[in-house]
Amino acid sequence: MIKLRDVSKWYGHFQVLHDVSLDVRKGERVVICGPSGSGKSTLIRCINRLEEHQKGEIIVNGIEMTDNVKNIEKIRRNIGMVFQSFNLFPHLNVLDNLTIGPMLVRHMKKKDAEELAMQFLEKVRIPEQAQKYPLQLSGGQQQRVAIARSLCMQPEIMLFDEPTSALDPEMIKEVLDTMIELADSGMTMICVTHEMGFARTVADNVILMADGKTVESGTPEEFFGNPKNPRTRLFLEQIL
Ligand code: ATP
Ligand code: MG
Repeated sequence: MIKLRDVSKWYGHFQVLHDVSLDVRKGERVVICGPSGSGKSTLIRCINRLEEHQKGEIIVNGIEMTDNVKNIEKIRRNIGMVFQSFNLFPHLNVLDNLTIGPMLVRHMKKKDAEELAMQFLEKVRIPEQAQKYPLQLSGGQQQRVAIARSLCMQPEIMLFDEPTSALDPEMIKEVLDTMIELADSGMTMICVTHEMGFARTVADNVILMADGKTVESGTPEEFFGNPKNPRTRLFLEQIL
């Protein structure tokens, strides 16, 4: 479903990604972790062209990500993304945050978009917050709204970039529970996260990035139980 072949990227003279290759099958859950500055955000942002790679191939559902605007739009239509900062529209209430995308992009009627939005608010367990504004919600609630908003676009793939790292500890669990339910529903997911409990429970494949390279990749059993690369061992010692 997602195929990266020798993807490299530079910011000026600085090479941030070095020949990264990655395969994600339909329904697969991949967790990417690694030290700060190792290129995790850059990598997943390249998958929906929020960043541009300069070498190698990124192919999503058989379409290669190039400069072709039509292809970029086709790929983006299938990908939802959730960020560390929730990026909700502060001047719109929760329901309007959820309906604006389907109405503008998918030309849904308001009533249908609202029905869909309420379905996903139930899924993330905050239907009662529909009329509130983002700043009237807790961080965990805002992040669940952000997840529901992505899901309203009915993507086939969800990308998460440290969705819980801006949250207080007591709110992390509610967001992780939402992500676990999403995983159980069969969603294809790539999650940048340091929540290793989540990785153990949910991931099919755990990847460590360091210095713009994928240095280790394996099932949770392999990754945590028998890491091959010394950098993985060092990383795990530091965070576990
Ligand atoms: P973190 O865990 O802190 O989020 P990360 O693994 O997501 O880190 P990236 O944000 O992908 O790392 O950044 C990788 C490297 O690229 C860093 O050295 C960063 O300073 C650099 N970088 C990121 N964005 C830019 C940019 N727009 N221009 C120049 N350099 C950048
Ligand atoms: Mg990052």
